[in-house]
Amino acid sequence: MTYRERNRSIVERATISDVLRLAGRPQPDRRGRICCPVHDDDHPSLKVQPSGRGVRCHACGWRGGVLDFAVALGLGRDRAGAALEVERRIGR
Ligand SMILES: [Zn+2]
Repeated sequence: MTYRERNRSIVERATISDVLRLAGRPQPDRRGRICCPVHDDDHPSLKVQPSGRGVRCHACGWRGGVLDFAVALGLGRDRAGAALEVERRIGR
């Protein structure tokens, strides 16, 4: 499996909710919002997309997919590292 294939496979399987669980963070509130990991957020500004595979912050404008979010939560130094970590830990 190439790096690109591995990333695509993980993005197809893992969700923002999975990444939150792996990072030990709370799940989104009833409005699908969580505190933004990129800026100093004291109330939830980061909206999880209905697909569950992307996020966008209404305060600082940061947006990303599952792997970008995993990096922001410290699950990898870059998207490749996050892909390996998420794959290893979701193990399915
Ligand atoms: Zn933000």
